[in-house]
Amino acid sequence: MITDAHIHVQPWWELKPAVLEVMTRGRDDVDELQKIMKSPEHLLRRLDADGIDRAVLVNYPSPDLMGFTHRVNEYVAQYCQAAPDRLVPMGGVHPRFTPDAAGEVRRAAEAGVKALKLHPPHMQFEPNAYLHGLDALRALYEEAQRLKLPVMIHTGTSIFPGARSRMGEPIRVDDVAVDFPDLTLVIAHGGRPLWMEQAFFLVRRFPNVYMDVSSIPPKALLRYFPRLAEVADKVLYGSDWPAPGVRSMRKNLEEFRSLDLPAAALEKMLHANATRVFA
Ligand SMILES: [Zn+2]
Repeated sequence: MITDAHIHVQPWWELKPAVLEVMTRGRDDVDELQKIMKSPEHLLRRLDADGIDRAVLVNYPSPDLMGFTHRVNEYVAQYCQAAPDRLVPMGGVHPRFTPDAAGEVRRAAEAGVKALKLHPPHMQFEPNAYLHGLDALRALYEEAQRLKLPVMIHTGTSIFPGARSRMGEPIRVDDVAVDFPDLTLVIAHGGRPLWMEQAFFLVRRFPNVYMDVSSIPPKALLRYFPRLAEVADKVLYGSDWPAPGVRSMRKNLEEFRSLDLPAAALEKMLHANATRVFA
């Protein structure tokens, strides 16, 4: 069984034109992608063709930078109803764009959302901003912890217009893991390409902190994380498809599987760990 724990199936029609341009630049599969964003049948066909059994569909609101609103939660929950055993709906709450972050988390969960994504470079706050006055972020973490919703936090850089990559530094997730010890956290992209050592530290330090290796070119992965096999219990395979630079889920998967890693470690990263995080 193969789980891709990080793909983006999103309501593209809400994107700002300049963002859509970055998203689609140089791709020859834009027509298919447009269909996939509207119809799970098209995605399931693509997953079958690419050898993926289960996928986590990552969404988050970012009205000012990207164009997405809190409507993403209903969108992704409804979309995944087409195949609940294969599609995991990940939504999000933007602490600066809701008067009631805890209530928004509850509404998302009631709609069927199974996990939340925070994107600090696109949301313009740091993961520990609740220590400096962003109370809505504390409410979000508390409610996610109470409802047992895992929270994925983007770490690393971003090339979209307006993104503040500085906010992608993983070490600030250290505060979140300390203050919300029962919250399951996933550090997306392992801090690539600037902060891999911080990500490696955090997944070793905290039992509830995982990372995904999406958007890291598999061929570069062991150069970035020479000791990846040591944390095989804490790593989730993901592609970040169809983000800029990620052409194909299948090609990404093939390159990942051909890495010089023990078979047992690959099996954990490709499926077993994801079943624990996204139960
Ligand atoms: Zn992503």
